[in-house]
Amino acid sequence: MAVDSNLSSPLGPPACEKDAKALRFIEEMTRNADTVQENLLAEILARNSNTEYLRRFNLGGATDRDTFKTKIPVITYEDLQPEIQRIADGDRSPILSAHPISEFLTSSGTSAGERKLMPTIREELGRRQLLYSLLMPVMNLYVPGLDKGKGLYFLFVKSETKTPGGLPARPVLTSYYKSEHFRSRPYDPYNVYTSPNEAILCPDSFQSMYTQMLCGLLDRLSVLRVGAVFASGLLRAIRFLQLHWSRFAHDIEFGCLDSEITDRSIRQCMSGILKPDPALAEFIRQECKSENWERIITRIWPNTKYIDVIVTGAMAQYIPTLEYYSGGLPMACTMYASSECYFGLNLNPMSKPSEVSYTIMPNMAYFEFIPLGGSKAVELVDVKIGKEYELVVTTYAGLCRYRVGDILRVTGFHNSAPQFHFVRRKNVLLSIDSDKTDESELQKAVENASRLLHEECGSRVAEYTSYADTSTIPGHYVLYWELLVRDGGRQPTHETLTRCCLEMEESLNSVYRQSRVADNSVGPLEIRVVRNGTFEELMDYAISRGASINQYKVPRCVNFTPIVELLDSRVVSAHFSPALPHWTPERRRR
Ligand code: AMP
Repeated sequence: MAVDSNLSSPLGPPACEKDAKALRFIEEMTRNADTVQENLLAEILARNSNTEYLRRFNLGGATDRDTFKTKIPVITYEDLQPEIQRIADGDRSPILSAHPISEFLTSSGTSAGERKLMPTIREELGRRQLLYSLLMPVMNLYVPGLDKGKGLYFLFVKSETKTPGGLPARPVLTSYYKSEHFRSRPYDPYNVYTSPNEAILCPDSFQSMYTQMLCGLLDRLSVLRVGAVFASGLLRAIRFLQLHWSRFAHDIEFGCLDSEITDRSIRQCMSGILKPDPALAEFIRQECKSENWERIITRIWPNTKYIDVIVTGAMAQYIPTLEYYSGGLPMACTMYASSECYFGLNLNPMSKPSEVSYTIMPNMAYFEFIPLGGSKAVELVDVKIGKEYELVVTTYAGLCRYRVGDILRVTGFHNSAPQFHFVRRKNVLLSIDSDKTDESELQKAVENASRLLHEECGSRVAEYTSYADTSTIPGHYVLYWELLVRDGGRQPTHETLTRCCLEMEESLNSVYRQSRVADNSVGPLEIRVVRNGTFEELMDYAISRGASINQYKVPRCVNFTPIVELLDSRVVSAHFSPALPHWTPERRRR
């Protein structure tokens, strides 16, 4: 129910007093976006004026935008690598930030095959928390009654390491879930999860997922929203239910937890939750034993009002499958964030996935935008509707004019803060989950496998392209290979080709290998050998659609259905990676 009308917000009537405050904050920030940005940059520059990095550029105490933009270069991760390495090795002097670097956030973006290390400072947790605190007040404008039930969210921590200098290195969400901000969050009726903290914080992904799903089943009628961070994560949870429903039914029938769940704190917490419920067990068996899993989410959790997952960017490939399982429930993409910085939120979370726009919050960092094809960065409030830009951030933690690598298109404004459609991440060819493989990484992987092929049977890979196959859960990389078998060479055996699959996986970056080994979020890589002449047909097809014969290059990734169908119709054999590649949480040193 809406509160007192004098609390009303231009965004809509808030659901409660706390929401009114949050909505007022959004209004204030977006109305004064330019001033907020100007002051924020001055604050960062004043505070960090004695850092080694800023001193290098002789700002002479200036904290204004013009001096900043004239003197400080726009950079990428590689430019900052030496400084990051020194901090990781234990140099505690103020290199990037006047405030001590408290930990490194390991990005899913990689550099030289390893996750990028993003420096962060303690107070950033508060800034992230602030952005989180705005999400439900916005959602409550569109979906009433969310305080009458719970959210079934599949949330996980991942393994963490320490840098040689002793700083933790872990993903941003692992850092957040382990923080007091999350663990000791005050009770909020609009934000009650079915998953106990013990399950979310369990480092064993099987036990964590098992417990979270079990709790979701036990409390199925309370569930009003179902979600995960990314669409791929929610689909993995559904797959998990497909594989293990009979175990859940057994646990629920007898009120005893599966013996594979050995984590002490989970067992202790579940002993207070799990009671025999034969009727629920029977219901789960009836729903899950059928071949037909269409609308399974609304069948099991009938009060679900929306699905809360990111389906923008690389995750758009999962929309049809999610629609199938959810019976067309709205999909809410609530926020846009990264290890470098949390950027903003979706002020219209019930919009269709293709129309999602994120409003960048001017209090999170200092933002600049490089027009695509241009070089001069413009201010947040000066971007133009319809134009595409690359995002550049300057953060409190010491990233200065740092290229994030995301391409955004301006769709409109909320007050003076622009709203952006996420277009794509630069240089990403293949992605299934949080893995991101670029063209040169794929090229290297194919070269290594081709070498193995040559050693074993004298043949080579003549042409290749790739495809992210998400028709299975988890999805997997498919490599279409056309082979060159010269005189003296032999057709490779199935065993050789499976070894080539594994060789490619071994060559891919650590996020890919972690997704395969620890998260099970990417399935075994597949080689589909196509018959000779297929890539020429591919070229003919492209030329028939208007490509220039002189400029034609084999696409290294395909996703246009007619092309995938053409390739699939020419497949002579298919081979999967027979084992897991190597992966350990430890980073390889450069
Ligand atoms: P990471 O540094 O691993 O946290 O990944 C951050 C990146 O994930 C961003 O720079 C984006 O490329 C992508 N990302 C985050 N949020 C969204 C979103 N809402 N829609 C599309 N892509 C996103």
